[in-house]
Amino acid sequence: MSKMSRYNIAFKGLSQGKHEFLYELDKSFFGAFENSIVEDGQVSVNIVLEKQSALLVLWFYIDGTVNIQCDRCLELFDQPISGKNRIIVKFGEENLDDGDDVIWVSVNDYQLNVAQLMYEFVSLALPIRHVHPDNENGKSVCDPEMIDKLNNLNVSKNDEEDITDSRWDGLKKLLDNE
Ligand SMILES: [Zn+2]
Repeated sequence: MSKMSRYNIAFKGLSQGKHEFLYELDKSFFGAFENSIVEDGQVSVNIVLEKQSALLVLWFYIDGTVNIQCDRCLELFDQPISGKNRIIVKFGEENLDDGDDVIWVSVNDYQLNVAQLMYEFVSLALPIRHVHPDNENGKSVCDPEMIDKLNNLNVSKNDEEDITDSRWDGLKKLLDNE
């Protein structure tokens, strides 16, 4: 994961207080994750890191569009996303009583890689259903040709079943004639 090293934030040398980091995520970023729903996109992640005496607080502000496949017509479309997520970085031995948003790192660590976190927060920002958003008239903008093709596939499947059924009918007739 060496090409992910540019997402390392070296926090050790930072002064106490707030620091900002801006990352632009694109195809090369999403392509690095196996089985990613998102293969392409233009997403800005603005990270505000607040260094306190004993811990770090990181806010992730996500804004952009991702290119994902429509569940209905299978065409790719641009899905706008935005999100705001917070994590807290603590140092030392992990304490399981802490919430999901706490990450424990060794007291010897001097940098934090935020690639996996950004990927997870982008995934969380996706809607549950991946379909083309309706246009301003409330109409579906799914590719009508593709929808037709998919419907035809279903129809021809039904036709095959009908053929099988009629063959059985023929056989039945033969048997009846005997
Ligand atoms: Zn669609």
